[in-house]
Parts: sequence; C-alpha cells; structure tokens
Amino acid sequence: KFDVQGKNIVITGGCRGLGFTFAHTLAQCGANIAAIDLNEQPSADFASLPFGGNYKYYRVNVTDYEALKKTIDKIYEEFGSIDGCIPAAGIIRDRPFLEHTEKDWRDTIDVNLTGVFFTLQHCAAKMVEQKTGGSIVCISSTAGHKSLAPQTIAAYTASKFAVRGLAKQVAHEMAKHNIRVNSISPGTMLTDMLKGIMEQDPSRKQLFVDSCAMKRLADPGELAGIMLYLMSEASSYTTGQDFLVDGGLV
Ligand code: NAD
Repeated sequence: KFDVQGKNIVITGGCRGLGFTFAHTLAQCGANIAAIDLNEQPSADFASLPFGGNYKYYRVNVTDYEALKKTIDKIYEEFGSIDGCIPAAGIIRDRPFLEHTEKDWRDTIDVNLTGVFFTLQHCAAKMVEQKTGGSIVCISSTAGHKSLAPQTIAAYTASKFAVRGLAKQVAHEMAKHNIRVNSISPGTMLTDMLKGIMEQDPSRKQLFVDSCAMKRLADPGELAGIMLYLMSEASSYTTGQDFLVDGGLV
C-alpha cells in the first residue's frame, strides 16, 4: 500500500532542500521524478542511486504561467502521465513588517502562492485528462498556522496560510476526479532558505528550538514518511487535510 513504484511525480523546487529530499525519497521507492527548479540540476546524489535515471530536471520559473504550462505539457508527453504533484518551490523574505518592501511582498506571494496555484492547475488538468486520479501535496509551514513572531516574515506567513486554504478548496473540486489534495506543514529545518537567517543571528535558531516541544530542529528526511503516505494508495481516503510535522511547535 505504501507503494509509489512507477508513479510519475512533478516536484517544483526539486533541486534543493525539502523538494530535493522528497525527490530522493520517492525515487528510492521507485517513483519517476520530474524536478522543476531555477537552480542548477543536482547530479551527484542521483547518479549514486543504484537504479539511477528516474530523475529528470526542467529549468523553469514557477511564476511564469505559459512557460510552466509548456514544461508540464512536455513532462506529460515524456513521462506518459502525471500521478503526483508537489509544489515545493518557495522563498522567504526576512524583514520587520513596516520595512517589508513592495517587492518583498510581491516576490513572496508570486512564488509561494501564485506559483503553487499555477502548478496545481497545470498538473490537475493533466490528471483529469488521463482519468487515473492523482495526489497533490502542497507545502505550507508552521507559519501557515500561527505567527512565529518575533521572526519577521509577514509575507511568508500570509502565503503559507493561503496555501493551506487553496489546497482545501482544490481538494473539494477535484475529489470527483479521484485527485486527492493535501498539505503538509513542516517545522523548521536548516535548508539554504533558513541558513542565511540563522547564520546572521544564532539567537533566531535558538528561538525555533525553544518554541518547539522536541527542542530541536528537524532533518528534512523526517518529512519522508508523510510524503510516502500521501503519494501512495495508503492515503486513498485522505483529502483536504493538512499534516503538521513540527516536533510539537504548533
Ligand atoms: P530551499 O531554498 O532550500 O529550496 C527551494 C527551492 O525552490 C530552490 O531550489 C529554489 O531554486 C527553488 N525556487 C525558488 N523560487 C523558484 C521559482 N520561482 N521557480 C522555480 N523554482 C524556484 O528551501 P526549502 O527550505 O527546501 O523550502 C522548500 C519548501 O518548504 C518551501 O515552500 C518552504 O516554504 C517550505 N518550508 C520550509 C521549511 C524550512 O524550515 N526550511 C519549513 C516549512 C516549510
């Protein structure tokens, strides 16, 4: 039941951080990965997997509606179906609310919300067309559940609350096509996204550690289990849900 063998899964932000961890986990379990990213393709880790070859990289900006549509059309053609979709591309802007610039706001909402909407719409359209259903897992955050103040991430927080809402709405509309839509809300991990913030001011890291019941940050691999559950038939009756994996922060 926890089987993703042969499933074709689109992962945005799939070259680094959490998106890359999901790609790695699912590929190790036999899924074929189409990774969409702005970053350079990571090669070493995939080359070292014994079966290799089931990870393909597409360079595109998720905020570009037409370019993203073309890419997802191409993935559909090359892979033959799209069975799973994980819109994990995201950015964070760290500045006190009154100092958030228009650009901070627009960039964050563009990638974290509009980019997710575009990805969901293009992938879900293919899933409807192929008539075999599918699973979509959006990436919210503990910041999509409560204010993480004194962290200064207003636009990010707004985008992550919105992503949970978007997933719930789409879950209802897509259920008749047997497309399940859920979100996960991870706790804090030292990926490139947060390294900068924490290296500048180590007390910020301590705040995350102190505010969570387990008193430590997460390892991205600790998200693998929930993703395997949601991408496989083990979760065949689960939709419209958000799953906090946050060491007890919320
Ligand atoms: P990361 O910065 O390590 O990786 C993000 C990836 O997204 C990068 O490879 C980047 O190139 C790509 N990306 C950014 N903008 C893009 C765009 N416009 N088009 C295509 N690709 C783009 O970050 P991460 O920590 O792995 O975060 C991944 C997701 O997990 C994000 O949605 C983030 O909000 C969420 N999240 C992270 C944490 C954490 O503690 N790191 C916690 C909760 C949620």
